[in-house]
Amino acid sequence: MEINIATAKRKIQEKGFLDVDIDPTLDLFHEIERLKKEKNAVLLAHYYQEPDIQDVADYIGDSLGLAQQAVKTNADMIVFAGVHFMAETAKILNPSKKVLLPDLKAGCSLADSAPADLFKAFKEKHPNHIVISYINCSADIKALSDIICTSSNAQKIIESVPEDQPIIFAPDKNLGAYLNKKTGRNMVLWNGACMVHEIFSLEKITRLKIRHPKAKLIAHPECEEAVLKVADFIGSTTQLLKYAINDSCNEFIVATETGILHQMQKDAPNKTFIPAPPNNACACNDCPHMKLNTLEKLYLCMQYEQPEILMEEQLRVAALKPIERMLEISKAAGLGG
Ligand code: SF4
Repeated sequence: MEINIATAKRKIQEKGFLDVDIDPTLDLFHEIERLKKEKNAVLLAHYYQEPDIQDVADYIGDSLGLAQQAVKTNADMIVFAGVHFMAETAKILNPSKKVLLPDLKAGCSLADSAPADLFKAFKEKHPNHIVISYINCSADIKALSDIICTSSNAQKIIESVPEDQPIIFAPDKNLGAYLNKKTGRNMVLWNGACMVHEIFSLEKITRLKIRHPKAKLIAHPECEEAVLKVADFIGSTTQLLKYAINDSCNEFIVATETGILHQMQKDAPNKTFIPAPPNNACACNDCPHMKLNTLEKLYLCMQYEQPEILMEEQLRVAALKPIERMLEISKAAGLGG
């Protein structure tokens, strides 16, 4: 077993995770709970994680909620069941803590759509602009930004900037276009997008609405404009969850990653939640990056404390400033925490 682990540790950059066999009789839920206590670890999970991971997490949330929890925690170790930029954000906020991600290859197509060198050149072409970046970006892009936002607080963040101050918004062009409409600003948009939210088929959604005439369509603002136009409600993952629970409607078509349906169904067991159909032969719209994390990889990373998120201090400090600005504005606006 020891040789096995030593080899797996050496191969961690190549594989992304500790590729070690686990005793199939092991109760992983029990083991993860045990490791949390033993190592004073907190397990933060995004709503898009698989149901088993959500059920064993200490806190489940969207990007804003998870960042706020990462600031608050007294744990020595943060285990982040999400994608790389989220674990990176936790590390930026907690330099002295060990931050673990079950699979280093859990990336994000939206974050990848903004390479730092190209974005730097883009920024130089717009010298009088400040940069507001959606949290779904790398630490390098955060370091080039003035304020970070999430889909929960983006509108408030933009409205906190004087109207005559030109803004670059990155990296999501769909969210940026939606926010331009909402706020009446004319932000310059970086041309990035999320592969999951861009894939919804308006045609299939329209057919689904005909089959379920009482259902409301609820959508994440990363969706394309054509889908947002026909949505009954648009909001961040947390806002969609709250709306689905509190609204009097009993049936919802949900245009975001399918992981959120687990919490919706748990919190409103008598309601029906239908995932919005994507524009391909597959019936699901899972984020392939989010779903790289599994209960097995989670257990292994907690047991052996790898893969760990590490970062140069200079980059961390530069990326911290715009995140702190976001947290201050969110707090002042009474947005969670
Ligand atoms: S759902 Fe989209 S934005 Fe979220 S992690 Fe996956 S690729 Fe990135």
